[in-house]
Amino acid sequence: MRGPIGAARKLAIAEKAPLYLVGGAVRDLLLRRPVVDVDLAIEGDAVGFGKSLARTAGARISAHERFGTVVLEFPGGARLDVASTRKETYASSGALPKVGPAGIEEDLARRDFTINAMAIRIAPGRPFLLDPFGGRRDLRSGTVRMLHEKSPHDDPTRAFRAARYANRLGFSVEGRTRAWIREAIRRRAFDSISGDRMRREIRLLFSEENRARAAGLLSRLGVDRAVDPALTSPLAVRRGLSRAERIASRHPGKTGWFLYLLVWAGDVSEKAAARIARRVALTRGDLSRMLRWPSLLARLRREARSIGPSIARAERLSPEEIAAAAAFLGPPAGPRLELLLRSLDTSLSIGGRDLLAAGVPAGPRIGKALEATLDALREGRISRGRELEFAVEAALGQTR
Ligand code: ATP
Repeated sequence: MRGPIGAARKLAIAEKAPLYLVGGAVRDLLLRRPVVDVDLAIEGDAVGFGKSLARTAGARISAHERFGTVVLEFPGGARLDVASTRKETYASSGALPKVGPAGIEEDLARRDFTINAMAIRIAPGRPFLLDPFGGRRDLRSGTVRMLHEKSPHDDPTRAFRAARYANRLGFSVEGRTRAWIREAIRRRAFDSISGDRMRREIRLLFSEENRARAAGLLSRLGVDRAVDPALTSPLAVRRGLSRAERIASRHPGKTGWFLYLLVWAGDVSEKAAARIARRVALTRGDLSRMLRWPSLLARLRREARSIGPSIARAERLSPEEIAAAAAFLGPPAGPRLELLLRSLDTSLSIGGRDLLAAGVPAGPRIGKALEATLDALREGRISRGRELEFAVEAALGQTR
């Protein structure tokens, strides 16, 4: 073993501390998928261990003494999380668990799914796999399985995680796990998830490929309706999510997960949009965009043709709203809206200084003339070479 893990192993051997590779890294190693984050668990003091490791390996360390965890950043950029093995007990659904020291078995027993509840003991001695819940078997059969019936009550966000892993890995959610999740929803366990946590889970889910499948998985579990009864992921929404991915790939860097939230909301009423915005604790720009989404969608459905770059700019329509409407509506409005989206890539090659140099007096008319020129350029009414001429005319025209 080389690199940061090798250094950690050497130190653990010297300190005679049992050290384990845990969580997603074990799962991904067994699946031969690239390992992104490395989590280590130590039966002992993780903070003390992390500090010694940082010293010997020249890593940067941030310690969370309260949680007994450290994050190390190594000179080459590699990241290593180290935690003390621990157990968790949940007083009530969704509440933060009570945490206490424990051995590796109890640490694995507090985890979400069998495929994430394996460990490789890397020190001391020869490495070996610990797989108390049959994670390897479930990896082979492509199954996301919770460890026990109370799991989705203890932490209902695990329902989103189930859909996320099933989607990412092309797995299915095991039948009893599905029933446990539905039962937790029936008992209103979801009510205890805060808006921030709910939004975070949805963001993570919609930040990975195959959003249509992700929505389908949520729907089979009943998780969409548990977020809000208006979220039912019908075919039009799932088609829209697939289209949205294709549109986003044609306009890289313009849209984020919020695009998919809008499409997921689909044809909701204004009342439902407001409820969803509140439930997932949207703020500022995203909040106002969700609130106006139903009316924007209705308007674009009626008159996609009449919304040009100047209206999009004047109303501050975001690329995400335009892309979401294009995706949800599909043809014939969709392709038109995508042209509008493309036009937003065009920006001016001149600025206020050029207008001043051309003799336009300083003042608000400069900004207005630049906006008019941008609209004209985006709408194809002028070519690049005519920007300055058009802007000067627009500015001076306003003075008359
Ligand atoms: P990813 O590839 O998505 O990062 P990961 O498995 O590393 O996958 P993390 O969210 O980083 O996921 O969590 C690390 C590990 O902690 C998981 O593999 C799982 O064992 C455990 N874990 C994380 N969240 C929960 C949860 N809500 N309930 C129980 N165990 C969890």
